[in-house]
Amino acid sequence: MKLLEEKILTDGTVLPGNILKVDNFLNHQIDVAFLNKIGEEFYNIFSSENITKILTVEASGIAIACAAAQHFNVPVVFAKKGQHKNIGTDCFTAEVFSFTKGTSYDVTVSKKYLNENDTVLILDDFLANGQAALGLMKIIEDAKAKVAGVGIVIEKGFQQGGALIREKGVRLESLAIVDSMTDDSISFRSND
Ligand code: 5GP
Repeated sequence: MKLLEEKILTDGTVLPGNILKVDNFLNHQIDVAFLNKIGEEFYNIFSSENITKILTVEASGIAIACAAAQHFNVPVVFAKKGQHKNIGTDCFTAEVFSFTKGTSYDVTVSKKYLNENDTVLILDDFLANGQAALGLMKIIEDAKAKVAGVGIVIEKGFQQGGALIREKGVRLESLAIVDSMTDDSISFRSND
């Protein structure tokens, strides 16, 4: 998505440890009009998949999922991180190793909100080593629901997440794929 690449180039900064910071439009301050374009783009890509729910992880994925859900007209379910007393015990859970924090945490979804009749689109802001997406895929599998695909705003193509998901035969669509980044340059994989 050309507009997204331009925005990453103007607003993104590269932090040590292969972290791309885009928190003035995606992860902290949110450019809602721009997010709506991202949501529309995901709809254009996945509209034929008969999606019944969008699944993401709190917190950064929620705004993206909501922007897309308005076009699909389906509910958003977000997996909660850590232990939650108020979610009940009847839950699907997966352990996720966090790329940005360097520790593992549980993601949890109540059994009330996913079942075998669901066709689920996973959406997230970043794809690094794929652990968050794989955790959500496990939850969907445990619910006996179907994974329609994974939509990512920014995939870091030099990390292994993309390969791990694609080799499972799951449709992965990333709106921008960063092939390499340094302190003063970011280059994208061309989509032709
Ligand atoms: P993964 O599970 O694919 O290793 O990492 C994906 C998760 O880590 C995303 O949900 C995102 O929140 C976070 N993440 C990974 N890489 C980056 C990055 O370069 N920048 C930011 N802001 N978040 C990242």
